[in-house]
Amino acid sequence: AQTPVKVTVTGAAGQIGYALLFRIASGQLLGADVPVTLSLLEIPQAVKAAEGTAMELDDCAFPLLRGIEITDDPNVAFDGANVALLVGAMPRKAGMERGDLLEANGGIFGPQGKAINDHAADDIRVLVVGNPANTNALIAQQHAPDVPAERFTAMTRLDHNRALSQLAAKLQVPVTEIKKMTIWGNHSATQYPDLFHTEVGGKIAAELVDEAWLRDTFIPTVAKRGAAIIEARGASSAASAANAAIDHVYDWVNGTEWTSAAIPSDGSYGVPEGLISSFPVVSRNGKWEIVQGLEIDAFSRERIDASVRELEEERDAVRQLGLI
Ligand code: NDP
Repeated sequence: AQTPVKVTVTGAAGQIGYALLFRIASGQLLGADVPVTLSLLEIPQAVKAAEGTAMELDDCAFPLLRGIEITDDPNVAFDGANVALLVGAMPRKAGMERGDLLEANGGIFGPQGKAINDHAADDIRVLVVGNPANTNALIAQQHAPDVPAERFTAMTRLDHNRALSQLAAKLQVPVTEIKKMTIWGNHSATQYPDLFHTEVGGKIAAELVDEAWLRDTFIPTVAKRGAAIIEARGASSAASAANAAIDHVYDWVNGTEWTSAAIPSDGSYGVPEGLISSFPVVSRNGKWEIVQGLEIDAFSRERIDASVRELEEERDAVRQLGLI
């Protein structure tokens, strides 16, 4: 029998965790024939709630779910982990300065990176969902010098999926008609959803819409979709974030054509090496590869540079705080 894959989820008792765990256990993260064990990491005061979720997981009698562990110790949670979904993070509270936010998250993602470094399986793959996701991923990666940097990624797949859905609605086509969508940069309001390489029925998407819609409606709608959902739902997006996490890991492991993921830069497209920034990527043989050779016009250049500058500022801030 196949050895189960160990999947560690942090912030497991949160609302994204609740939307995520049942899909992992049902086989949607890795494949319908891959048994899994789940390790749920929570802060001490949320362990009981995680136990409740684990009871519900038990009650699903998922054929692929071979075990559940619940802990508040990262060294236990990441021991032998093959996949780590870092969902738990310190959210920005009203009046909180960026430095405070980064510092609070440094206290979470530094020790988690070290625990991954010391205890995870050799094939560990890490996806950071908790915000500020790109910089949290950088902090964790910097604390894991023995793990190849490329194993640390951050999620921009939800932005990617939002961009697909907005464009599909505008052009009245199924999302399956749209190829080569790209999100560049930071998972924040500065992210840049790029339609200049996106293809719809063999045509470039940017040529199928007017520039005012692209600039004044499409880009801000995608970038601010999270706030619009909070406004409508009274709570932040959870099921769609979990869905995007599933998409990211499934594609990383099983391979995919063009999508978007935040991965450590190799210097491509002028993004400083080492920054964890979103790129157009494909996945081959279990590795993300940046799509090369794209022409970047002035409109796109300006927007990519602005988002990358924000990532550099976040990196410099966590450096100054001694977090990396
Ligand atoms: P959620 O499950 O709703 O969100 C978790 C994180 O995901 C937040 O940082 C959130 O950022 C982020 N996120 C990223 N993309 C999205 C998106 N598109 N939509 C919504 N959120 C997104 O938070 P909860 O408060 O329900 O749960 C968090 C859990 O994490 C709690 O149970 C807490 O105890 C736990 N936690 C665990 C830690 C650990 O395991 N060591 C450490 C810290 C917390 P944003 O806030 O910017 O929306």
